Amino acid sequence: MPTSPVTRERIEQEVRQALAATLRKDAATIDLDKPIVKALGATSIDFLDINFRLESTFGVQLATQLLLDLVEEELGEGVAIDRDGRITEPAAELLRMYLGEQPGLKAGLDADEVPSFVTPMVLVKSVGGILDHLPEACGACSSTDGWKTDDGCKVVCASCGAAATYPDGDELSKSWIHQVQAEKGLFPVS
Ligand SMILES: [Zn+2]
Repeated sequence: MPTSPVTRERIEQEVRQALAATLRKDAATIDLDKPIVKALGATSIDFLDINFRLESTFGVQLATQLLLDLVEEELGEGVAIDRDGRITEPAAELLRMYLGEQPGLKAGLDADEVPSFVTPMVLVKSVGGILDHLPEACGACSSTDGWKTDDGCKVVCASCGAAATYPDGDELSKSWIHQVQAEKGLFPVS
């Protein structure tokens, strides 16, 4: 896959800006490794706003479904969340890979609490993961001359200037789930 012309630093900067604008905070004081809900007091409505800002800035579609819902959709009902709405051991392990090691992120956690573990760095990785999936050829003119960015965020075809098209966040999450399952066999196979 072609390398994205968008830098990691720029993604971090834009995540800070999106959080700062939505939550009325100073971008410079935001710790990328601290959970957004606890450190910055974000609500679920705020997350919609933050995601929308990032999607507009980078021309991407972030995942709309919760990771554990996607796991159950792909690998079977009950494998990630038990009857009492608590996360299973394999789900906890998957979440630690996705969200980083954090206190309290373990089996038995109420599934509704999972979004409160999202850090700015998780958003950086989500955006970056999508931007890393640039197609080989432009969908508009079929050129393989490569990609460029004029504003540092939106990627366009170097030949015709059409916007790059990316897989959406849900699609990428699903393929990541299958990849982890193939490598580690975390979840029971029914
Ligand atoms: Zn083109």
